[in-house]
Amino acid sequence: MSSDLHKQILQSLRNKQDEMVGTLEELTNLDSPSTDKALTDRFASVLAEKWKAAGASVHTLEQEKYGNHLRVEWGGGETQVLLLCHMDTVWSAGETAKRPFKVENGKGFGPGAYDMKGGIVEALYAVKTLSELGLTPKHRVVILHNSDEEIGSLSSRPIIEEEAKKSKAVLVLEPSAQGGSLKTWRKGVGMFEVTIKGRAAHAGADYTKGISAVQEAAHQILYLHGLTDLDEGTTVNVGIVRAGTRSNVVAEEAHLRVDLRVKTQEAANWVVPKILGLKPVDPRVNITVKGDLNRPPMERNQRNLALFQLARAIGQNMGIDLTESGTGGGSDGNFTSALGIPTLDGLGPVGDDAHSPGEYVFLSSLPERAAVLAGLMMEI
Ligand SMILES: [Zn+2]
Repeated sequence: MSSDLHKQILQSLRNKQDEMVGTLEELTNLDSPSTDKALTDRFASVLAEKWKAAGASVHTLEQEKYGNHLRVEWGGGETQVLLLCHMDTVWSAGETAKRPFKVENGKGFGPGAYDMKGGIVEALYAVKTLSELGLTPKHRVVILHNSDEEIGSLSSRPIIEEEAKKSKAVLVLEPSAQGGSLKTWRKGVGMFEVTIKGRAAHAGADYTKGISAVQEAAHQILYLHGLTDLDEGTTVNVGIVRAGTRSNVVAEEAHLRVDLRVKTQEAANWVVPKILGLKPVDPRVNITVKGDLNRPPMERNQRNLALFQLARAIGQNMGIDLTESGTGGGSDGNFTSALGIPTLDGLGPVGDDAHSPGEYVFLSSLPERAAVLAGLMMEI
């Protein structure tokens, strides 16, 4: 595709910046907490109408407990490219009434504007613009909007994986890394619960009869943190410790909550069995461990890098300098990359402070990132 056409796509999107900001305002001001089915369903139906108006076909994937998901399809072709944009936010009902969308100094503020309603706006306008310019990608474009990403994508994971397996590439509209970098890798995430059982006894009268779960927990916490290998990108964090009842009682039970991050599957294969197989230092103690890796690592592999290089070349044609980085946090891109499907993440707007009241989007990045996205749809 010629660089002139890339510039034309960018110009057409820049002309729509005010309209894009208007749509971002409308979508941000609709609360969509992961845990509130009625509100996320309402958000999904508003978004569905917008996609239909853009000429896409929309299927609502009904869910019982949490919000419905939307599967949007546009264009034709035997093969497909998959876009992932979750609709849910970490903000509770009523948050947008307290802090409605506002614009200041070229930035758009509001609950979920950056993570990731800005990404949804980009996808919508990328499709609209290609359609207006009469450009048709080789592959059909499937946009999956799930409603449970912020709580682990439990009901949407199988749908995401099924669609990813049919796709040439997966483009994730999560916010950019700081400074606008695209994400070619993300760490995998594991969560574990450790229960340590000893025996209670009077700390004064029967000290030696007791088996202290607290003492054992201390050994295990040091061991778990010792599994951290910063050079490898592996971190183990015992984030919660609950133990004991009274200072004059030898503690019978201790509970630990553990967070694991790994950069590669190889690292996971090494460390996960060590956590699941914790051995008591005091042989009279009983230890049970529950949990596993719940998001596999999105590795910085050749497939993801090739997709980044393509985005970078498209950006260069448009005069947009795109850089590459990664993060310790997971997204739905972890699932698709682990299946061997080329995945590029962080294509959402440039901004900062996700999951914080200060989150914002640089408004001029909306048309720019949408243009890169549209370019990717055409070039893949
Ligand atoms: Zn997100």
